[in-house]
Amino acid sequence: MAALDRAAAATVVAGVSGSVAPARAASRDFQPAYLRLVEAGLLDERIEAIAAHYDQCGLCPHQCGVNRNDRETGLCGASARAQVYSHAPHFGEEIPLVGRRGSGTIFFSHCNLRCVFCQNWPVAHAGRGRAASDRQLADRMIDLQRRGCHNINFVTPTHVLPNIAWALGIAVRRGLRLPLVYNTSGYERVEMIRLLDGIIDIYLPDLKFMDGSQSERLAMERAGDYPAMAQAAILEMHRQVGKLVTDERGNALRGLMIRHLVMPNRVAGTREFVAWVAENLPLDTYVNIMPQWRVEHRAFEHEDIARGITVGEFLEAMDWARKAGLSNLDERAVSAEKVYRQRLGS
Ligand code: SF4
Repeated sequence: MAALDRAAAATVVAGVSGSVAPARAASRDFQPAYLRLVEAGLLDERIEAIAAHYDQCGLCPHQCGVNRNDRETGLCGASARAQVYSHAPHFGEEIPLVGRRGSGTIFFSHCNLRCVFCQNWPVAHAGRGRAASDRQLADRMIDLQRRGCHNINFVTPTHVLPNIAWALGIAVRRGLRLPLVYNTSGYERVEMIRLLDGIIDIYLPDLKFMDGSQSERLAMERAGDYPAMAQAAILEMHRQVGKLVTDERGNALRGLMIRHLVMPNRVAGTREFVAWVAENLPLDTYVNIMPQWRVEHRAFEHEDIARGITVGEFLEAMDWARKAGLSNLDERAVSAEKVYRQRLGS
């Protein structure tokens, strides 16, 4: 089979949509989760509970135990001051996040998973970006709201959760009213996700690997427990926010959206991924089976992933998803699938 061409993979065919209509809510009735915590007088308490983790860092499954308030760093390489690479309206995220005016992304430097095939490696691995105080982080959130973004999308947030929490406290007092998106690799401690209950509106986790030997080999050292950690975290995310709910224009307000990148030679365990979703979550959970694999960073050092994915590999992934009964597949993935099937005449 021919290697996937990226432009075609990103093609959206007008009129093609996911298989089910998402749950709708009126935008005028929407209130982000954190405002309810404010009304209940609980936000400050929650912020302090999250912030306490910098003294002996256990924010993620690595549980390094370093005192980041005392300038120690753990495996992620991050200090107690968040580093931000960029903040801007982003139009490459899933359509319910992008809407007409973009998803308000804040890209954090460093990462606690650091896959060898990372497409963001200068930021996630090399730590490119600038330090931002919590006040400056709040400024960026307010700026994205002022620019009309539909949400605040924290990209790779796990290792800087205390900064996000402090900045949120400031931004709420300054009028922040947008839903918050937690855009994560999935390498999370369920205990930390529980602390986000009532703060995060939309969870956007990856589920990258279903086999710990693959995450051990292709992500950061000691990440062999990735599948178990990510699966437990996703179940907790779903418990908190449920299925995706959009407003009358299709913009996401609340819910779980799962991403899974198809890799060459079935390395990502896509068949096991769709089976796990089907067995553990509602069949209409929003799932994005992504075809945009690229041989990035150090992927070329691993023979089995040192090539693009084939059309056949992407189409078999979509077939598995449908056979498993998944009915709320990402619109762009469905469109890419249609394009490839048309080309193949199947
Ligand atoms: S967030 Fe960083 S320092 Fe903290 S436990 Fe994870 S890898 Fe270690």
